[in-house]
Parts: sequence; structure tokens; C-alpha cells
Amino acid sequence: MTRSSLKGRRIRLGMVGGGEGAYIGGIHRFAARLDNQFELVAGAFDVNAQRGHAFAAQNFVAADRSYDDYQAMIAAESLRKDGVDVVAICTPNFTHYPIARACLEAGIDVICEKPLTATLADAEALAEVVARSGRFLGVTYTYAGYPLIAEARQRVAAGLIGSVRTVQVEYPLEWMATGIEQQNNQQAAWRVDPAKNGRGGSIGDIGTHAYHLAGYVTGLKAEGVAADLATFVPGRALDDNAHVMIRYQGGARGLLWSSQVAIGCSNGIRLRVFGETGSLMWFQEQPNELLYTPLEGTTQIVKRGRNELDELTRARTRTPPGHPEGYIEAFACLYAGFAEALRARDEQREPQAAGVYVPDVYDGLKGVAFVDAVVDSHEQNSAWIRPLYS
Ligand code: NAD
Repeated sequence: MTRSSLKGRRIRLGMVGGGEGAYIGGIHRFAARLDNQFELVAGAFDVNAQRGHAFAAQNFVAADRSYDDYQAMIAAESLRKDGVDVVAICTPNFTHYPIARACLEAGIDVICEKPLTATLADAEALAEVVARSGRFLGVTYTYAGYPLIAEARQRVAAGLIGSVRTVQVEYPLEWMATGIEQQNNQQAAWRVDPAKNGRGGSIGDIGTHAYHLAGYVTGLKAEGVAADLATFVPGRALDDNAHVMIRYQGGARGLLWSSQVAIGCSNGIRLRVFGETGSLMWFQEQPNELLYTPLEGTTQIVKRGRNELDELTRARTRTPPGHPEGYIEAFACLYAGFAEALRARDEQREPQAAGVYVPDVYDGLKGVAFVDAVVDSHEQNSAWIRPLYS
């Protein structure tokens, strides 16, 4: 299919999943609207077609572009002159691969939820399809969208804290501290099923966010992981708590904790990077502040919105300092980045600041390889395992 130019118009978005009662699809819809770059024109919003059509009607998606399933959407949209340019995949992990593959092979770009796939074989196959098709696949590693995370990345790259010695990253949640999957919780039910979630429980669901964040900010690549997984809630087939030691190429060390049972931690993602001459710390529940401490110096609070911050940071900022920005804005920065990446490709130019370092299929592949290595390590009594991709 030959796509029409993106110049002078919004990018036409289709969505799979994200229907009534679903979680992340709604966040995608907010994020896609914030910078006026996308319009949602089509969807297969629910595994139950009737529920999907009702949802489409409530959300002003034309009835003839609300589809029974993603196959019907791809087939029909491919025939339209004004067909979708990109599809957002907001479904459980095991469905990402067939949906993404079908889109890419039909010439449609993809924005895919993390983890990229439920198995490493699927992730490898998808990376191969992206390379072969020349299409774009962006992965919504949410925390890469925060402006002060871009600032931290730029400061580490500029050598402000010297060579990184150790990275401490944690992603604790509390919502699965009891067996809510046995009480009809839609989100929890598929997350505890290895066939739907993949081999890693908390480590696949949120550990992949933490792993990406640590690598994104430091630029470090893992050469080994040693993991201890635990399942605290009876009846679960997957871990709900993970402790992982990481050895990075070049000698830096990392420690990653992901947990779904950490009572009191609503969404407590925290990153601390310690280098030879300073450190950086960021906590996502206070996302408008980054702490920077130089060696033997006073801790400084770096505030979002200030003009002296890096160009990348400013490109991910919408309001002046003092007006808090948060989760939706960060997610929108990912969408703005994807839009810029798509437009740059369309216009055969380099992307501007908003569109550099956007998480792509290789970041997704690395995340799935990390989960695989972690679970292998745990199964081998915490032996050191080298991730196949890093
Ligand atoms: P959910 O259970 O709330 O929603 C899943 C939706 O997908 C439902 O609407 C369901 O009907 C639909 N669906 C399932 N199979 C489908 C199919 N074949 N065709 C069409 N629709 C289908 O799940 P969720 O919590 O929103 O998670 C969805 C994905 O988003 C997962 O991969 C998860 O890991 C990811 N996620 C990412 C973030 C983030 O911060 N980026 C946060 C939460 C979830």
C-alpha cells in the first residue's frame, strides 16, 4: 500500500484494544490529542466486537470504521485513500505480535505497548519484520517521555556526573498485593497468566519499564543479570516481586527492583544514578524535580520548565515552571516523538529534538531479552546470564 504524505495534516490513528473498562488505551487517546498531531479515526477496541462498536460510538469513531477485529480493520483501512497511518496496540502482551506484524505487513506503522511481545522469538521476528518492511514501530516506555528524564540523559551523556558507577532503579506497585485476579479484575487476570503475559510477571510488566529507564538515562548496556524472583500471593504462576543485579559493559553495576505487592507504593518508580563526580535522582511521583549532587557539593533541585535546561528537555515541556506536568504529558511526549519521527521519515530529513531517542522496536526487543535472561537466571539459582540483546 502506498501511503499519502503526512504533510499539512494530522496523522490518522487506529487503535486495537483500549475499549470500555480497559486501562492504557484511554491514556493513549489523551496523549495522542494533546499536541494536535493525531486524530483517532478507526479501531477494533475490544475483544468482544459488540462492546467495541458501542465504545466506538461513544467516542465518536464513525460506525463504518469501527471493526469487529484487527484483521478487518487492516483489510478495510488498507483500501481507503484516507486509511490509518499508524495503529496503537493497547491489548494484552501475547496479542502484540500478531497485531503488529499484520499492520507492518500491510504497510501501516505501529505504536505498541510494552513489553513488545510475550516471547523473545516473537520480539526477534517483529524486529525482523520492521527491518524488512521499513515501517516504524514505537514502544510506549512511558517514563522515557518525562522532560527531566531527557535532562538526566543529556547530563550523563555530557559527563556531568563522570563515569557511571552504579544505577539503582525500582518500580514498586501495590495493586496486586492480594489475589485480585481471582475477583474478576480485568487487568490482573491476564497479567498472572504466563500464556498471556509472558514468562516474567512483575519483571515483564513493570521491570521492563525500569530496565529501559536505566539504560535510557545512562546509555549503559547490560552484559549480565542475576535474578531472584518471588511469588508472594498464593496461586500465582508468575513472579510478583523481582530483585535483579545487573552488570553493565564497562564495569558499572545496577540493581533493579520491581514489585506488584509493595503496599504503600502507588506508582513509585525511582531512578538514582551515581557517577565518579556526582549523582542524579528522580522519583516519578515528584516528576517536575531532578536532584543533582556534585562531588562534595550541595544537592541542587533541577526544576522542569527553566530556560537553561537542555534543548531535548525544553522540547518535552509545555508549561512554565510551577505549573506541574505529569503522566499524561509524559505519555504525550512519546506521541509527539513518534509523530516527529514519522514526519521526518516522510520528509526524508533528520528528526528535530522532540523526535530523537524515541523508544523503537530494538528497545522493545531488548526489554523482552532482559525478561528472558532474568527468568533464566532465576531458574538457574540466580546464575549470571547474558541477555541476548542489550
Ligand atoms: P486491559 O485488560 O485493561 O485492556 C485490554 C484491552 O484489549 C481490552 O479492551 C480488551 O477487550 C482488548 N483486547 C484484548 N484482545 C483484543 C483483540 N484481539 N482485539 C481487540 N481488542 C482486544 O489491559 P491494560 O492494562 O490496558 O494493558 C494493555 C497493554 O498495555 C499491556 O501490554 C500492558 O503491559 C500495557 N500497559 C502499559 C502501560 C504503560 O505505562 N505504558 C501501563 C499499563 C499497561
